[in-house]
Amino acid sequence: MKFSEMPYTRPNVTQTVERYREMAQRAAAAASGKELVDLFRLHTQLDDGFATAYRLAQIRHTLDTRDEFYDAENDFFDQASPEVGNAQLAFYRAVLASPHKDALAEAYAPILLDKMELAVSAASDEVLELMQQENALSSRYQKIKAGAQVAFDGQTLTLPGLDPYKQSLDRAVRKAAFEAEGGFYDSNREELDDIYSKMIENRNAQARKLGYDSYVDLSYKRMGRLGYGPKEVASFRDQVAKYVTPLAHECVKAQFARTGVRDPKFYDAAVSFADGNPTPVGTADQLLGKAVQMYTELSPETARFIRFMAESELFDLVSRPGKATGGYCETIPAYGAPFVFSNFNGTSGDVDVLTHEAGHAFQAWVAAGQGMCQELANPGMESCEIHSMSMEFLTAPWHHLFFGGDERATAKYALAHAEDALTFLPYGCMVDEFQHIVYAQPHLTPDERNRVWLELERKYRPWNDFETLPFYSRGAGWQRQLHIYEAPFYYIDYCLAQMAALQFFAASLADRDDAWQRYLALVKKGGSDTYAGLVSAAGFAVPFEQGAIEPVAKQVADWCAQKNRELA
Ligand SMILES: [Zn+2]
Repeated sequence: MKFSEMPYTRPNVTQTVERYREMAQRAAAAASGKELVDLFRLHTQLDDGFATAYRLAQIRHTLDTRDEFYDAENDFFDQASPEVGNAQLAFYRAVLASPHKDALAEAYAPILLDKMELAVSAASDEVLELMQQENALSSRYQKIKAGAQVAFDGQTLTLPGLDPYKQSLDRAVRKAAFEAEGGFYDSNREELDDIYSKMIENRNAQARKLGYDSYVDLSYKRMGRLGYGPKEVASFRDQVAKYVTPLAHECVKAQFARTGVRDPKFYDAAVSFADGNPTPVGTADQLLGKAVQMYTELSPETARFIRFMAESELFDLVSRPGKATGGYCETIPAYGAPFVFSNFNGTSGDVDVLTHEAGHAFQAWVAAGQGMCQELANPGMESCEIHSMSMEFLTAPWHHLFFGGDERATAKYALAHAEDALTFLPYGCMVDEFQHIVYAQPHLTPDERNRVWLELERKYRPWNDFETLPFYSRGAGWQRQLHIYEAPFYYIDYCLAQMAALQFFAASLADRDDAWQRYLALVKKGGSDTYAGLVSAAGFAVPFEQGAIEPVAKQVADWCAQKNRELA
């Protein structure tokens, strides 16, 4: 069925909540494991139905935010989803309290019960009011950023509007763009500091109400982390600082040597090549056509997947008036249909959408084909990003299609991609360590928080020189990172996933077919295993373990050095 033909009806919330209440009662009284499993099947039906309507409304709302009907439906779900979510958790609690709960582990997977435990341990009616206040603080941050009006180049620009200037080949222009951006944050300094102080206070209060010392511990539950905690993540970060940072530094030096910048500053880092970053060739439709060719040739599974995506019209890639910004992949459960949303802008980011978001979509399509319940279809975020970030590397033999067959542009894209993957790791770890520190020490003043950030800059990215950029040099650069405000502790996930993706990259250099088969096996497991379980089942090192990171990072850095020589 085509996306446009998928029927939408608003779900009846009172009825849904009532059914969950009744199911929770039946679960509490269940006399056998079979009864409990049957109830869980009912829950999946109910959950899929509700989620289908929710996603259809959300997607159609973002496709045209001016459409009054879906605007109202979207508002409806903002109200309705916490209510239904709570009713679902009450059902989970009843199931988990049942003496027959092991039947679920047998019928589905042992991890299902762990996931349900995690979900109930991270939420409670007691923190609803705090969560609403937290949402309001997030909205304040969003509003400040969305309302940015930056005077630049004779125009008034939004923050994303500054991006092309920040990548300008003219050094004076990119310097001025970074200064203009920093000036915007400086002019909102007090408000941005105040919002963050209140967020830390609010989230730590939620944690205490739920019985945790601080939000650090609660965040591991909220992020659905299974099988690892702060200790493992700290070991990961320290290995990145020790082994990846020096290699990333070499990449940065090579980049500045290529672009011919002497005395490089922070604002020089966005330019990868003296003759400009590579850009894809063709219209959005033509690029999508190339993606269809790529996935058709990659494997029989991706061939079926991309045919389904194209026939069901599940891509919306072009910017239009009224369309929301950004990009995402969301799945419509009743149709087993992932939807890829993007705003193409003519940069190599468009290629990333067709590899990264399509990687998410491929996994969702595979999980739907296997009839997995939503709890088991999706692993934690750190593993979801393996599907997408690895697809970015595994599709490399076809990337020339997006650059009109231009070999040099394709090689530049591959090099910048691998370099970015390496330099991203220290940055992502900084973002994570910063949050661990500030939530554990809530009494730090805004200036003290900035000093923490600067110390982390020296630990993870000692090559950065922030001269002439007061916003960055006073250590406030973290305020640009919306995750720090809006999605606390969701960032290390990209680093953990990147470590798996880099191992897929290295494996594909040695044996492309073998790497693909391992990827396919990982995708088919969906969310039925933990991060460590998925990574080791693919035959890779789990990066929490000492010694796991250095060899992979070294191999990628060597590959970059080689590619860099070829391009010189
Ligand atoms: Zn992603």
